[in-house]
Amino acid sequence: MTPGEFREQGRRLVDWIADYMERAGDRPVRSRARPGEVFAALPEAPPERPEPWDAILRDLDEIVLPGLTHWQSPRFFGYFPANASGPAILGELVSAGLGVQGMLWSTSPACTEIETRTLDWLARLIGLPERFLSTSGRGAGVIQGTASEAALVAMVAARERAIRGGARAESLVAYTSTQAHSSIVKAGMVAGLGAERVRLVGVDERLRLDPSRLEAEIERDRGAGLTPFFVAATLGTTSSGAVDPLDSIGRLAESEGAWLHVDAAWAGSALVAPEHRWMIEGVERADTFNFNPHKWMLTNFDCSALWVADRRDLTRALSITPEYLRTKESDAGAVIDYRDWQIPLGRRFRALKLWFVMRAFGAEGLREHVRRGVRHGELFERLARESDVFEVVGERSLSLVCVAHRAGDAATLSAMERVNDSGEALFTHTKLPTAGGERAVIRLAAGGARQTDEDVRAAFAALERAAAETG
Ligand code: PLP
Repeated sequence: MTPGEFREQGRRLVDWIADYMERAGDRPVRSRARPGEVFAALPEAPPERPEPWDAILRDLDEIVLPGLTHWQSPRFFGYFPANASGPAILGELVSAGLGVQGMLWSTSPACTEIETRTLDWLARLIGLPERFLSTSGRGAGVIQGTASEAALVAMVAARERAIRGGARAESLVAYTSTQAHSSIVKAGMVAGLGAERVRLVGVDERLRLDPSRLEAEIERDRGAGLTPFFVAATLGTTSSGAVDPLDSIGRLAESEGAWLHVDAAWAGSALVAPEHRWMIEGVERADTFNFNPHKWMLTNFDCSALWVADRRDLTRALSITPEYLRTKESDAGAVIDYRDWQIPLGRRFRALKLWFVMRAFGAEGLREHVRRGVRHGELFERLARESDVFEVVGERSLSLVCVAHRAGDAATLSAMERVNDSGEALFTHTKLPTAGGERAVIRLAAGGARQTDEDVRAAFAALERAAAETG
């Protein structure tokens, strides 16, 4: 492709994306593709001769779009949002266009230094203490692909620190709550602890990790000669958005010399609005703090921000320098080489999209986005409270509300399936623990980039209609 052809086709594709953004809400939210259908629509072998762009674009419309679940539809209320936005898409485009690989500072100084500065900005924007900023000399931020990778990196650094402090690798135990995301257990599996040495601590009636149970588990493990080395607190659990009491958990972790990791994958974005910063009381005791701008902060997947209080903890665990990666700046300790802060070697220029987002929306625009999501959560909550058929289960957390059909689990799930089948909106479900066992609920997760009150009302009306139709 010549630069001239790139210009022409690039403009067409930007138009195509803009059309998609405008019309994402017109399509059935959940893909109706049957298993194997997209695969079968593609030829068995790649083309021998170059294909015209018209053919490629036609397949985007005819094969790709029908095979998509439209995460950017304003009627998408499943899982958590995966916000895309114009500035972030353009940042991705520039990143691809520059084709930079930023594994070392010297392989593109701007790639590293814009990332470091952007994460300092982001730390300020969400109210993290100075110790997590690069300007503190000790801390700094780094972009990981996902919260799962961030948890793994944190756990590996914690393991290294514990072993350096004299602990035996076989004695290490980690703790998180029964409501924590499965990525914490997975980190334990990958880090060699095994799932069984990640303790799932019980929660209180609001589904928050219960510090007294954490203390009891730690005591029991100590008694058995084990070493508590890692505690993960969740701000905004996946199922219900519960916020663990960070302050008490941090004090316990500190008294044990254990690493405190904070997983705020979803709820972290809300911290751009000061009224939600009660969640991070006690964050000064954290060793690592993580959230995903790729969920609710208008930054296309993937972009997971991880801050570490002492960068040496990461580099001691993850740095290995074969001759071909040595540089004089690294040897002089004058620069950050982000390859030493992550699992892979190579890395894209992901900071560009985050930088574009923060500049194009401004703190004001980001706060407004989060507040709109919370208002939509409140609207869902109000509609559910006014409903004769559904009821709110537990409490709303920010933009997330869990509801259930009063008639029980089967009615809850069949109403949700009916809406999802209709394509009018998309919800996902979970099971929440109750006094007597557990209860199936529908999660209404607002926060999409282009959602309006009307979308929320229409989605809830679809749910009520589905409940009436399924009887
Ligand atoms: N932690 C929490 C609380 C989450 O809700 C999720 C995903 O929804 C994750 C971690 C995993 O996120 P990722 O896909 O970035 O690994």
